[in-house]
Parts: sequence; C-alpha cells; structure tokens
Amino acid sequence: MSASDTQLTAPAPLPAATILGYPRIGPDRELKRAVESYWKGAATAADLREATASLRQATRARLVALGLDAASAVPADSTLYDQVLDVTAALGAVPARFRDLCDEHGGLDLDGYFTLARGEGDRPALEMTKWLDSNYHYLVPEIDQDTPISYVGSAAAGTASPADQVRDAVAAGTLPRPVVVGPVTYLLLAKPSDDAAPGFTPLDRLGDVIDAYGHLLMDLHEAGAQWVQLDEPALASDSWAVGRARVLEAVRDAYTWLGAVVERPRLLVAGSYGSLGDALPVLGATPVDAVGLDLVAGGLPHDQDLAALAGKSVAAGVVSGRNIWRTDLDAALTALERLRDALPPGTPVTVTTSTSLLHVPHDVERETALDPQVRSWLAFADQKVGEVQVLARGLAQGREAVAAELAEDARLRAERAAHPGVSRPEVRQAVAAVTEADRTRAPYAERQVAQQARLGLPVLPTTTIGSFPQTSQIRRARAAYRRGELDQAAYEEAMRAEIASVVRLQEEIGLDVLVHGEAERNDMVQYFAELLDGFATTEHGWVQSYGSRCTRPSVLWGDVVRPAPMTVAWSSYAQSLTDRPLKGMLTGPVTIMAWSFVRDDVPRAQVADQLGLALRAEVADLEAAGIGVVQVDEPAIRETLPLRRADREEYLAWSVGSFRLATGGAAPATQVHTHLCYSEFDVVIDAVDHLDADVTSIEASRSRMDILPAVAEHGFERQLGPGVWDIHSPRVPSTQECVELLERAVAALGAQRLWANPDCGLKTRGYEEVQASLRNLVQAAAQVRAAE
Ligand code: GLN
Ligand code: ZN
Repeated sequence: MSASDTQLTAPAPLPAATILGYPRIGPDRELKRAVESYWKGAATAADLREATASLRQATRARLVALGLDAASAVPADSTLYDQVLDVTAALGAVPARFRDLCDEHGGLDLDGYFTLARGEGDRPALEMTKWLDSNYHYLVPEIDQDTPISYVGSAAAGTASPADQVRDAVAAGTLPRPVVVGPVTYLLLAKPSDDAAPGFTPLDRLGDVIDAYGHLLMDLHEAGAQWVQLDEPALASDSWAVGRARVLEAVRDAYTWLGAVVERPRLLVAGSYGSLGDALPVLGATPVDAVGLDLVAGGLPHDQDLAALAGKSVAAGVVSGRNIWRTDLDAALTALERLRDALPPGTPVTVTTSTSLLHVPHDVERETALDPQVRSWLAFADQKVGEVQVLARGLAQGREAVAAELAEDARLRAERAAHPGVSRPEVRQAVAAVTEADRTRAPYAERQVAQQARLGLPVLPTTTIGSFPQTSQIRRARAAYRRGELDQAAYEEAMRAEIASVVRLQEEIGLDVLVHGEAERNDMVQYFAELLDGFATTEHGWVQSYGSRCTRPSVLWGDVVRPAPMTVAWSSYAQSLTDRPLKGMLTGPVTIMAWSFVRDDVPRAQVADQLGLALRAEVADLEAAGIGVVQVDEPAIRETLPLRRADREEYLAWSVGSFRLATGGAAPATQVHTHLCYSEFDVVIDAVDHLDADVTSIEASRSRMDILPAVAEHGFERQLGPGVWDIHSPRVPSTQECVELLERAVAALGAQRLWANPDCGLKTRGYEEVQASLRNLVQAAAQVRAAE
C-alpha cells in the first residue's frame, strides 16, 4: 500500500476496536537500551535510528498479530523521550537558551532534542513534571510571546516525526493512526518562559499553535494517515489557572480551525484521565470526526451532551489504561450498551482504552514467577488489546457472541473474590475499628515540649532526608544476595558496615538528627512491598517513568498484613552506634499506593487504612526499640491529587487520614517528620497542615524559598525544613549559598521552627559531593544560629 493509493479511496471508518496508545519502552526495554547506549557513545545515531525503527516495526507487528486492524487501529505513538517534547520539537517551540541548537527551520537534530530533555553544562534541561495524575513525567514546554512556533515536520532529521512514523509503517504494510498531544493540552501543560511578558499565558499563542497543527495535519495526510488522534487529557482537569471558560474557548477555536483543514486525516480527539465534562458539547459542535471518552475515570456523559455528537464516531474507553487488572467484561459491556443507547441512532462506537497503555507493562504472560492465580486476574497491555476486541465483538454481535469470554471472566472474578488473601477478616475488622482518636495525637504544643525535653535540639537543627549514596558496592552486594552468591548473614553484615560508616560520617560532620542511610532499600516502595503480605512483585513489569527511566511497580492485590517488623533491626542498629537521635525511616501509605498497582476491588480509602495500620505497628516497634524520631515520607500526596476540584475533598480526607493513622499512635515525645518532594506545596498546604507532622521537609532551593511567605500566611505552625541544597544536581552549594537561603527562610518564618536539610534523599549522589555539601550545610546552620 502506498500513500497515493490510500488517498484514492474514501477514508475508512474508525475500526471497531483500538487502543489509545501502547507502551513505548519495548518488552525488554529496548528503547531504554538503545537510547542509553547512544548517550554513552556506544552506539551511533544510525544505530539508534535503526533500533527504534525496528522496535516500532515489532510493536506494529505485535499489535496486528494480537488482532488489531492494520488500518488505523494501530497507534503510531513512539517517542525517543517524551510525547510533549515531540510536539515542542515539531513546532520548533524551542526556549531561547537552546535556540542555537536549531537549524534555519527551527528543527532540532538528535543531539539537540536530547539536550532539551537532559540539559548540558550550565543549560538546564526543560523542567519535568507529572503527566496529569499519573506517575509518568513529561517535559514542560516554555513559551512566551516571542517563542518561534511553526511546523518543522521532518525538517528535523533527528527524531521520527509522526509523519515519518506513518511513512515507515506504510512502507512496511500497516497504516497506523498517529497519536499527537493536542494543541490545547500542549499549551495548558506549558509554562510561561522566564522572558514572558507580565500577564502572558501560553494559551495566548493558540493561534500560532493551531496554524502549526494545520500543517502537521496536512503532512500526516500526505504521508497517508487516514486518522489522527489528538490527545486532550488536560480537558479532564478543571484546575488550570486560565479558568474553564478560556479552556473551552480554546477547544472551540482549535477544533473549528483544524476541522476546516481540507487535506487532513480524520480527527479523533481523545479525552482521557477523566471526563471531558463541559468540553464535550463544545467538541460536539466542531467538525472533528470522532471523540474519545474515558468511561473508566469519567463515567457516562449526560444524555444531552451525547446527543450533541450526532454525525461523529465515539471511541469509548472502557478498558483501563491505568491499572493492570482484567476488565470486568460484563460491566464494560453494560457501559457500552448504555452509551450506544444514549447516542444518536447509528453513531458508530469504537471500543478502546481509557488512556494510552503507556502506564502498564507489556505482557503478563511473561510473569512466570508470579503466583498463577494472581496472574490470572491481571491484564497488561497485550491482554488489554484482547479485551477491547472481545468487547467490540460483544457490542456488535450481542452478548452470545462472547458468552465464553464473559463466563471465563466471571469465573476468575469469583475466584479472586474468594481468595483468602483478598479479604482477611482480621484486617477488615481492624480497619473498621479505627476511631478518630487513633488518628489524633496530643496537641502540638504538648508534643513540642516533650520532644524538646527528650531530644534537646539546637535552634535550626540539621538533618538529611534519609538515603545516603547507593554506591556500586551496595548494589553489587544486593545483586549477589539476590542471585544467591552472598548468604543472608554476609549481606546483612555488608549493610551493617555501610550503616556504621554513614553514622560515623554524620557524627563527624556534626549533623543533629542522624539517619541510617537506607542502604538496604532497593526502592522506597518496593522495599516495603516485599515485606508486607498482600503485594506481589513482577519480573518484567516495567513502565516508563520518564525518558529512558522505568519503574517496576509492585502489585497490591490483597489485604495488607505486616508479618514482622520491617525496619527496626536496621534503625536500632544505627541508633546503637550513636548518642545523637536517629531518625527511623518509613514510606507513607499514599506513596506506597501511588507507586504500586493498587487493587480495584475495594475503595482506596480501605487500602490506605490497611497500610496505615501496618505502618502504625512499625512506628510502635521503632518507639519500643528506643527510636525517638520517625519520618514517614509522603512525596506522592500531591501527585495523586484529583484533577477535578470536586473530587479533592474526599481524596484528601482518606489520604491524610491514612497518614494520621500511621503516625497517630506515636507518643508525644516521639518526633514525627514527613518529607514531600516538591516546592509547589501551596496547592496542598492545607492538607499538609492536617498531616500534623511535627516536622515537614520540602524542596525549596531551586525556587529560592519562594514558597515560604505563603506558608507563613497560611498559618502553618509546625516545624519546616525547606531544602537548602538542590540534590538534583551534582553541584556542591557553598556555605554562603546555604546561609543566604537559610536567612531568607528565617526572614519568612523565624528561626524557631526551621530546620536545615537538603531538598531530598542523597541516594543518587556521590560521596564526595555529599560530604562537601553537608559540611557546608552544617556550617551555614551554625552561622545563622549564632546570628540569632
Ligand atoms: N527517605 C527517602 C530518601 O531519602 C525519600 C525519597 C523521596 O522523597 N523520594 O531517599
Ligand atoms: Zn524527596
């Protein structure tokens, strides 16, 4: 099939079953390997191009083999790093500090593209932030009134543009549906650059962006694409600073104009990560050809909004792109039938996923080490590709046509419900018995006195966030232990030696509250998942976190039980080596949930409280072992904040409640710390206040403490450790820099409730920087303290 052949015939309708996107990393993380060996200089640009082209080809072949229609059902959504960065590159919307990397058309070559993603020398990379409420990170576009914006297309030889991906695929015999972040979402996810005029908002550039997308559509058409999918997940959020009215106006403008482009593929505008809400009738009034609805996170739209879709196709996202559980086929079919009944008669319905499958691993069949029963309840990307087809068949031909699949699903569902680990009466009873008193500690004033009497800390006490460098020696020991080459005693001895050296170092540097360094933890969530009942871990279950980085979330499938203490031996060993207070280190319930695949058969509040109880028991055991300071990390509280304001109260109630359950049993004299990994904590400051931790550490050095006046204004009365050292870069901050940041903090909040600490854990840093930086930090605290 060639591009010109496809243009002779009328475009085919959207196939009956499709997916909004597929994991891009490859079943064996081929993308990661290819990109990283290019970065290391071990592979050439040609090698990288070849490797990624063959990964794309393998993906298309796999999806066709799994039954997707070779015409327009297979998404072309590959990226070398990030789909938002790809739009930045396609529009030539390159921030001023990188513009010398562009050719005369504004195009970036391969190295230029990666420089935006990773930075170079004193040119910082584009900022990275969470994609909607997921754990994927995208690169934030920086736009101002002067940012060049025009379609660069394939002029940028570096990466495979959507049109290039279509051309490649057509040459190889498939006609994929290119997937591109839509223009409204692109601008909503952007931030004004440092050069932006006062009052400028990226959405001010919508006209230029639409124009560029018009050219993109023409290019895709010329390449032979019959359909294009423009993703507009940002419409699921009602919290954009520009206000909803402005967002709706942008949707109307963008799709009225893009719909009017004559030589274009058909347009599927996909809402995902929630409902389109009042954007749905707006889209309905534009000439787009199909609208995608997330019926998993969003539910069925109102009848009158669906009536506005006359003449369009609807892509119904009933298979979750966010979790790894089998779809409840019966419930999904019911939702599809209801949707069809509510739509104007004859509206074609395509069955699809609620989001791209980029959040789930490739194939559960490979998890041969997983308990086969648990495995039978799961669906990774490849299984979900099967599910959309079964559902499409059921919708088109009636339930009888898929009776066998429905029966099998019902059987597995019943088996799952009856599994003893899924519902443990003692756990359910313990959660049911939780009272408000369990979540409530003594008043802060009383705690403060008791803690001061016990700990005797100076003004501006110094501490760290928990982890010390994970050296290659530590990693080697862990790998050898896993492979069985190192026995448990030898492994534990190695970890104890590491702990002893971390404690000695902190004493020598003069920190006030010490940590054991977390040498024994592979990961701050997986470590706990492996020690708690109710979790399973996978071998190949990698999902992309950002760029070439992947995580392997644990599967939380059952009721949570702590069979034995998890951290006490390490922490009390560390405490035995020093007279200074040693801080026990736990990961909080919300973060454990956010970074795992969480069961879908009980409310999240129930899961959170089960984790809260397990951690509460750990806190009690730490106290009993003589540990007087306990930190419960909750960096994820902000990230799973619902996109819609109306959903936030309920979320914050259970999430904050579970943290309070975990920590609420601590004696007044036990100092509870928490750590949040971000500076924009003004959005959740109220919730953070309700966590009722005695000490909260946050990231603050990059923003130079800008958040603190808001903290003061809020009336946040407990202690705060705004980071004075940006651990995300290898730079060693000077004493003077730390002093300046501390002085700014003191000016905003007064010295009495401030701590001096780094922005985050030190696990990714090297010892040389860590030692120098911590010395400077301790010295800075001493100087500022002396001046008080
Ligand atoms: N205690 C953890 C550490 O220091 C916290 C990490 C995090 O907040 N992401 O590594
Ligand atoms: Zn952090």
